[in-house]
Amino acid sequence: MPSTENRDLSRSDKGVETFIALMADTPNSRELVFLPLGGAGEIGMNLNCYGYGPPDERSWIVIDCGVMFGRETTTPGVDIMMPDVRFLEENREGLLGLVLTHGHEDHLGAVAHLWPRLRCPVYATPFTARLLRDKLEEAGLDGEVKLKVVPLSGKLTLGPFALELISITHSIPEPNAIAIRTPLGTIVHTGDWKIDPAPQLGEVTDDAALRKLGDEGVLACVCDSTNALVSGESGSEAEVKTALHRLIGGLSGRVAVTAFASNVARLDSVASAARAHGREIALVGRAMRRMVEAAQDCGYLRNFPRVWSEEDAVRLPSERVLYLCTGSQGEPRAALARIAAGEHPYVSLGEGDSVIFSSRIIPGNELAIFELQNQLAARGVAVITERDHFVHVSGHPARDELASMYAWVKPKLAVPVHGELRHMSEHARLALELQVPDAIVAVNGQMVRLAPGKPSIVDEAPAGRLHLDGDVLVHEDDGLARARRALSYAGFIGITLVLDRKGRVATDPVLHFEGVPDQIIEPVRDAVSRSLNGRRGGEDLSEQVRIAARRAANEIWGKKPIVRVETVEI
Ligand SMILES: [Zn+2]
Ligand SMILES: [Zn+2]
Repeated sequence: MPSTENRDLSRSDKGVETFIALMADTPNSRELVFLPLGGAGEIGMNLNCYGYGPPDERSWIVIDCGVMFGRETTTPGVDIMMPDVRFLEENREGLLGLVLTHGHEDHLGAVAHLWPRLRCPVYATPFTARLLRDKLEEAGLDGEVKLKVVPLSGKLTLGPFALELISITHSIPEPNAIAIRTPLGTIVHTGDWKIDPAPQLGEVTDDAALRKLGDEGVLACVCDSTNALVSGESGSEAEVKTALHRLIGGLSGRVAVTAFASNVARLDSVASAARAHGREIALVGRAMRRMVEAAQDCGYLRNFPRVWSEEDAVRLPSERVLYLCTGSQGEPRAALARIAAGEHPYVSLGEGDSVIFSSRIIPGNELAIFELQNQLAARGVAVITERDHFVHVSGHPARDELASMYAWVKPKLAVPVHGELRHMSEHARLALELQVPDAIVAVNGQMVRLAPGKPSIVDEAPAGRLHLDGDVLVHEDDGLARARRALSYAGFIGITLVLDRKGRVATDPVLHFEGVPDQIIEPVRDAVSRSLNGRRGGEDLSEQVRIAARRAANEIWGKKPIVRVETVEI
């Protein structure tokens, strides 16, 4: 019967339509994904993205936007590096906001550089916002960026993401974990953290809030891996304070302490030890003065003693002064480097004086720090580090602390971040040992589908590093660092060939040598002349000359410099 047929047909059409409509609407067509673009595979330049929605129209939030420092050996001439955010630029219409967990450079240092590419609102707690505002002002962006201050333990909703800040402890004021509630489950993004029962400044870890989340059910915990290879616990700032009191009490002569300026609790501990032993505090280095000012603006360091300027402190007897200095990582332009080199206009240290390094060595800075310590030792200064005294604790969770976090949060999935691959892999292994049912190690650019279904890596986004080279941002793939490494290894030879209109060699070639030993100059000249004998021009000739020059250099020197050949026609 035709009518039935029609009815059936229309019903089945309708069925398909309904099915499609349902699919588009059902939560199942929506996914919750995690995408690290920085900090997953290296310690530094953290940038983590969370996406929700159907694959082609996701909403995104970004947590943190940091830098890492360049290394003279691998990226000569590059001071800082930051994540390539091409993916976010391409998905900017879905980008709802950037939320900062805390004020360390590896979490907020890239905002002023990358915000013009992201152009989304930025959220931070008061102290972090204060630090960021300074940077935005310097970059001339303060009028443009919508920077919204969120109170401690505050909440905010960005599209499908309901965020709640949770106070934790770390090594800077106002560190936060973030609970991210979505229609497909809750994520706990820990940020940088440790468990310090006596942090000396700010809140203790809000374990009640974390336990509560665990009881509600947590889909994934995206967690700090820095110290996943370290057993036990990181230790408390209170213990460092006690140790500093004892140590400083036993020192005569001038005392200088170097620490990260952002470790405001540590600055306070040093100041209190100084005061207890009759020493006045002088802040040396711009970052130190700015950080104390920022902390006081935000209501911290209420009992910090009156600070002496570098100039005025010169008048104090050596037993009555303590210098708090920048430069614990051997930074060449920082206060301590200038003091060690005897180039500081007001502070000089020598026989009978002491320098306490109340900090750890950031991997990659070993040589610079040892060089600095040698310079101090050469002046007769006693150098005290965490190797011989208890003058530092880490701000990151060791294995026992990770165990506590997993016991509180009880996630279905562990996603290690903030580490090199060796830290992240070991962290994943530990999480599984701690009965977390699943763990995924994803490096920068790997997109993890957290829900629905079994979590897995489902896609790859462009990722990489941008180098701040002078004042210009360049992509690492542009090869600048590679070329500069090659130049620094074996120098440069420029050769200009002068040809007449018929392509014959018209005059002697002009050679220019940079950064090569004298011994190769004549042999290279000879080799170039020989390769030109009776030859005509053309691309082939340039290449022959280039090869001849490199070969001649290599025969004598054992190294092949960069050789560029240009031809000029007259
Ligand atoms: Zn940090
Ligand atoms: Zn960090």
